[in-house]
This record gives sequence, structure tokens and C-alpha cells, in this order.
Amino acid sequence: MADEKFKTIKLLGRVFFTFDLETVTGLHIGGSDTGIEIGGVDKTVIRDTLTNRPYIPGSSLKGKMRSLMEKYLGLKQNQPIHNGFIHSCGAEYKTKEDLEKKGKPEYKNCDVCQVFGIPGERDFSTPTRLIVRDVQLTDASAKELEDSKRTDFPFTEVKTEVSIDRVTAAANPRQMERVPAGVVFAPGEIIFSVYHGDDCDAGRDIDRLKAVVSGLQLLEDDFLGGLGSRGSGKVRLANLKVGVRSKEKYLEDPAPLGKGQYATLAELGHDLATIQADARRALGV
Ligand SMILES: [Zn+2]
Repeated sequence: MADEKFKTIKLLGRVFFTFDLETVTGLHIGGSDTGIEIGGVDKTVIRDTLTNRPYIPGSSLKGKMRSLMEKYLGLKQNQPIHNGFIHSCGAEYKTKEDLEKKGKPEYKNCDVCQVFGIPGERDFSTPTRLIVRDVQLTDASAKELEDSKRTDFPFTEVKTEVSIDRVTAAANPRQMERVPAGVVFAPGEIIFSVYHGDDCDAGRDIDRLKAVVSGLQLLEDDFLGGLGSRGSGKVRLANLKVGVRSKEKYLEDPAPLGKGQYATLAELGHDLATIQADARRALGV
């Protein structure tokens, strides 16, 4: 029985999505709260240490897509993480038997855990399919912000939020640092691995590309970072490219899937069935 732990899983290929990410409204992705406050700003944005430019951590993008997909699919958010709860198959089962009997079949059918992964390792878990890279501010946007001299700090603006204390009616102003609207971060890169073998089914992986694209669409319709309910964090994807690198042609450039290029996420979404059919053909699934 012991060798049931060892699985043979084969990588058939990888699907690559690249895109520009534009801020439609100001974007606040918080840096470390223990960092040095600049100019008395309460909430600073995360910046690249080398360039001092704000950037979008892949973990923020991936975490937001995951959380939106969990709600979209109505999954139970049953595992505590540092700032709330996420869904994770098997999190509530303590015994090995329950994990095997209930957790494993749930996991097998779970788009979120298969695509986005589960925290830590469980005996039944297979490799996380999705990698989401950090996205940097483009040189063009950085230059535009510098030249405009319209920002309060390098590349960012300060927005004052006033909250009213419900009991005393006292105004309580807070200063939030945001990346202004109309700037471009690129290239965004999302990589989806297709596996086959023990506990992995390549056909289902390709079906699950729908979860990736849906996660991006949910993000466009929601917000990224903080203060979303007050208008911040609306983003739009543009100039999308999608391609596949099969195991056999791994040293070649990714072959385009569907039309290969899409001006908007909606256009890519409408073509998803073709993209999936092309991916099946390229990977021999
Ligand atoms: Zn799950």
C-alpha cells in the first residue's frame, strides 16, 4: 500500500496566456504595513525594490481569481489563511480515511483546487496547474507618469478617504496611495500545465482552461487590490495572446491557439471552444 503515494505524472505541454493589464481606475495593492511610511500615507503600494516602480504580484492576481471562482462555483471556504478563508478540498477532514473517502473524490472534480492548487500537500493532490507571474509597469507608462509630473509620489497618487465614525460622527481621513488610472502593466503571463497519468486526466485539464478564462473575466468585472467597493481597482486586459508548447516541440515557440491574438478578453472568451480544440490537437489529447 505504501507505494500508492508515488505517482507517475507526465507533462503533456503548457498553455501560455500573455496580456497587457490596464488600470481603468486607481489601483491600490498594499505593500508591507510595517514598511516605512512615506509622507504620512497610511496605506502604501507594493513596489519593486530595484526600480521603485509599483508592480502587480502574481500572488495577488492568482488569489483574486481563485477567490472569485470559489464564489462563482459556490465552494465552501473552509481553510483559514492569513487574511481570511479559502476553499480547499479535504481541509475539514482530519482522519486519513475521511481524506481518502471524501476529500479525494471532491478534489478530483474540483476546478479550483486542481487549477489553483491547495495549500500544503495532501496525499491525493496533484501538481498545481496554474502559474501567474508578477506584472511590471511598462517603461512607456513609467515615462508618461514621470513626464506628466501629475503624481504625488513617484508613479503614484494619494487619495484621501474619509470615513465617518457612526457614533461620534467625527470624520476620520486616511491617505491611500494608488497607481493612477490609465497606466499599463505588461506583460502579464499565465501558464497552465496539462498533465496526464495517475490521478491526472489531460482532457479534463483542457476543459479547465475555462476556469482560467472565467477567473480573468470575473476579475475584470470585479476589482483588484484594495478599496474596490469605493471604486478602486477596476482593470482591463488587452492585447491577449494564447499559445501552446507541446512536450514534443518544447524547444519551439508556443504555437498559436485559436486566432492566437485577441484585442479583448471578451473576444478570447467567445473563442474558447476553438482554443480548447486546438490545444487538444496539439497535445494529442
Ligand atoms: Zn477543491
